[in-house]
Amino acid sequence: MVLLSLEIRAELENLLNLQPQEASDFPYFFKVKCNNCGEITEKYSCVVFSELLYLPNSRGKAHLVQRCKFCSREGSVTMMEGKGRPYTLEDSEAGKYVPLMCFDCRGIEPCEFSFRSGWAATGASGTKFLDIDLTEGDFTEYDEKESCPVAISNLEHRFVVSK
Ligand SMILES: [Zn+2]
Repeated sequence: MVLLSLEIRAELENLLNLQPQEASDFPYFFKVKCNNCGEITEKYSCVVFSELLYLPNSRGKAHLVQRCKFCSREGSVTMMEGKGRPYTLEDSEAGKYVPLMCFDCRGIEPCEFSFRSGWAATGASGTKFLDIDLTEGDFTEYDEKESCPVAISNLEHRFVVSK
């Protein structure tokens, strides 16, 4: 078992923060690596915090149960609540990576996170920007209250072993 923390980095322009709009319904898309043979899936898997699955032949639950197409070994990934926090303007100015979500991994590990949609951000005036789609890697809008452009760009992520 290994705990992997998904950390993100972004450049925020005239935005105070960036975070999943609905913590329990936010879809995390990632590719899956098999710890047994090292195979990485071509397709992205998706997990949502509110959707737990029963593990086969066990009383446990997980957010993702997947069998490796190459070596047939089965593994699971479970999300851990309360390990992430919103990405702030200060983080952006410092160029910091900030934890978004933590995954308890057994036999398989998430890799290559895809930002996709379901994000929310707040402008300096308190304006809420909802349903932000980061699939294309950036976001630009106009903050009417502040009369200034807002933007999210240079998205990066990494998975780090957490203790
Ligand atoms: Zn495998």
